[in-house]
Amino acid sequence: MTTNKQDHKTPRELLHNTAGMPASDGDGVKMTRIIGTNQLNMLDPFLLLDAFESDQPQDYIGGFPDHPHRGFETVTYMLAGRMRHKDSMGNEGVIAAHGVQWMTAGKGIVHSEMPEQESGLLKGFQLWVNLPAKDKMCQPAYQEFIAQDIAMEVQQDGSEVRVVAGTTDSGTSGPVEREDIKPIFMDVTLAANGEFTQQIKAGDNAFIYVIEGRVLVGDQASSLPAKQLGILSDGDQVTITAASHSARFLLVAATPINESVARGGPFVMNTKEQVLQAFDDFKHNRF
Ligand code: MN
Repeated sequence: MTTNKQDHKTPRELLHNTAGMPASDGDGVKMTRIIGTNQLNMLDPFLLLDAFESDQPQDYIGGFPDHPHRGFETVTYMLAGRMRHKDSMGNEGVIAAHGVQWMTAGKGIVHSEMPEQESGLLKGFQLWVNLPAKDKMCQPAYQEFIAQDIAMEVQQDGSEVRVVAGTTDSGTSGPVEREDIKPIFMDVTLAANGEFTQQIKAGDNAFIYVIEGRVLVGDQASSLPAKQLGILSDGDQVTITAASHSARFLLVAATPINESVARGGPFVMNTKEQVLQAFDDFKHNRF
């Protein structure tokens, strides 16, 4: 008897789930912090995940006035509403539904992120992605794409996959690239009883965040409800199915950086001394 090892895929299963906790940031913006909490401090290289969703202006109208970042990347992905960003180098733009801004803060920027609306629903995510030590002091950069620039794959069962980063098993590639950690960032809307399978490199960290409905994860078909994040076990691929009705989720994965992490508010470096240096540089306008 022979076995073909190359065809043998280890399924990733649901390892752990968390609903995060209510938080407030910027000028009183209400949100749910899902990564970056006591329950889930980080999932290397992901440092923080915030979900914001409200149609009450008082929950978001204050926005995020001028603030600095150094040493990592902020990824803003909108589902509804509009956010205007403006930075200290003169960059400015608006992120609207299904658009993404993948910003490399590098050695430092000062920016504001403000709602471009006075009423209506504002809904989206901000994910913080770490940079390796060698890149923490790089020049700031942007990868910004509107909805039409994000590759969309429609499966035979009617399920839709918006690919921000990575390549689906059918070969659809997203526009965002980062050579070192090779991220996957996909927004998947499953049709009723729809199924989605995605290869994820063994050793990479991966999570699912359910936006709507309920999904079943892996060969064990573990249930993950809306507004919960599920960490996936190691393996080569994951299969996610809609539980009874349509469902929508983010699938996010990347190669861990495996370096020491020192956090200080808007700065994420490798050592405490580097964080203190960042505060000092910001205070003395050296960004
Ligand atoms: Mn920011």
